[in-house]
Amino acid sequence: MYPPRFTAEPPSTDRTPRTYDVIIAGCGPTGAMLAAELRLHDVRVLVLEKETEPASAVRIVGLHIRSLELMAMRGLLDRILPHGRQRPASAFFAAIPKSAPKGLDSRYAYLLGIPQPVIERLLEEHAIELGAQVRRGYAVVGLEQDDEGVTVELANGEQLRSHYLVGCDGGRSTVRKLLGVGFPGEPARTESLMGEMEVGVPQEEIAARVAEIRETHQRFWLRPAGVGVYSVLVPAAGVSDRAEPPTLDDFARQLRAIAGTDFGVHSPRWLSRFGDATRLADSYRVGRVLLAGDAAHIHPPIGGQGLNLGVQDAFNLGWKLAAQIRGWAPEALLDTYQAERRPVAEAVLDNTRAQTELLSTEPGAQAVRRLLIELMEFDEVNLHLLEKITAVGVRYDFGAGPDLLGRRLPDMDITQGHLYGLLHRGRGLLLDRTERLTVGGWSDRVDHLADFTAALDVPAVLLRPDGHVAWIGDDQQDLDERLSRWFGKPAH
Ligand SMILES: Cc1cc2nc3c(=O)[nH]c(=O)nc-3n(C[C@H](O)[C@H](O)[C@H](O)COP(=O)(O)OP(=O)(O)OC[C@H]3O[C@@H](n4cnc5c(N)ncnc54)[C@H](O)[C@@H]3O)c2cc1C
Repeated sequence: MYPPRFTAEPPSTDRTPRTYDVIIAGCGPTGAMLAAELRLHDVRVLVLEKETEPASAVRIVGLHIRSLELMAMRGLLDRILPHGRQRPASAFFAAIPKSAPKGLDSRYAYLLGIPQPVIERLLEEHAIELGAQVRRGYAVVGLEQDDEGVTVELANGEQLRSHYLVGCDGGRSTVRKLLGVGFPGEPARTESLMGEMEVGVPQEEIAARVAEIRETHQRFWLRPAGVGVYSVLVPAAGVSDRAEPPTLDDFARQLRAIAGTDFGVHSPRWLSRFGDATRLADSYRVGRVLLAGDAAHIHPPIGGQGLNLGVQDAFNLGWKLAAQIRGWAPEALLDTYQAERRPVAEAVLDNTRAQTELLSTEPGAQAVRRLLIELMEFDEVNLHLLEKITAVGVRYDFGAGPDLLGRRLPDMDITQGHLYGLLHRGRGLLLDRTERLTVGGWSDRVDHLADFTAALDVPAVLLRPDGHVAWIGDDQQDLDERLSRWFGKPAH
């Protein structure tokens, strides 16, 4: 099913640096996902990761609906699900406790809580299985680009060459700084401590006290997160050394300050500290160098969107960069990456700003929160906010057309199994109920399915490799025009 593994190192002499198609700086979730996506198209990928060992902080992150859909599209979900815990798709927006709205159209309508190191490991393994090379303990410290490619300098003085470089190197991105790309926004105003630990008092006692405190403290919670384990959020105010990781004592002290008791917390699973800085890169691309994930955007973790956003960046960029390398990319395809993804990040930054305000204890913010709680009784409002956080509401601007154009197509049963099962190879797909259309000279890039039954109420639909609807219609000429726009010139 997969393309052949890329095992051979490109030729090198002592004087000429090794050459790759794409070098990725950073093997976090974004870098690993991007490497895998590129390998689906046989692109020679090298991932450079400065840390010698995978991350050890076992922070639990939530994979939201759209990310679960992407995993299903690449046949990864069965591998990931056993490592996580499924929770209802609800109470995401500013932690307002509303149940899941009706009308949520997804086969994967839940949240998957999973330790970040585990999802990182699974994505890295997936990329390596597909043939990506990952070199740990290699930090990118310099870059220089020309018309043919990029020279990447490593901390050990080694130089490597690639046609493109992608900075997936996190919020403090070296690549972004080397490019001189601005990262404007707001610095952190508050810091919080978050972690998971066991408690020494009965659940009922905790629930009553927590409900009381949350009347006035929104940046606080203590809620069940598994058998005997609680998730704890407290302000970091007064915790001394920002450079050191927080300790259980820090949590206990902050709990006593807010609740008058530390609930007997003990046996921490993981502890972390984070700020609410919000920043967006001015540009996602400078020539042959691109940015993705936290390297391009940072925001408070409220709503649990950062990792999801990065993985979705990688999904958007992967097939476009592969098309560029393989030589079939239409003019400006690569620029649609920024055109599509930067507005999505802008919207996420905005919703986290709004959620942060809603957690304030100021009377005005509390009043707005109460009003929003009322409004969320309307299912449309609840659904709208949920679609924002889970990214199923994303619609790229592909020009005038029906509402479905530019949106994702949900997974659905088809004669051949289910739709997403047809997207594992990262190719385009024409779903054709007319049975008289053809993908002609694009058949090396786009699959065609004509003989099927599915709950699809349009004659034909063209999906991009990222599952977004690129065309709807029944006219061959119109289809050819769209195929050229997204998949370049036909092979014959
Ligand atoms: C408390 C907390 C809770 C969170 N919860 C969620 C959640 O529930 N859901 C969610 O979606 N997100 C969550 N996030 C956000 C999420 O952790 C990040 O958005 C995500 O890790 C970003 O992934 P990335 O691959 O873009 O960057 P990173 O994970 O930062 O990975 C970057 C990688 O690049 C490497 N690197 C850095 N510099 C170099 C260099 N010069 N050369 C080579 N390698 C380099 C780093 O070592 C690292 O491995 C949370 C964050 C916090 C703080």
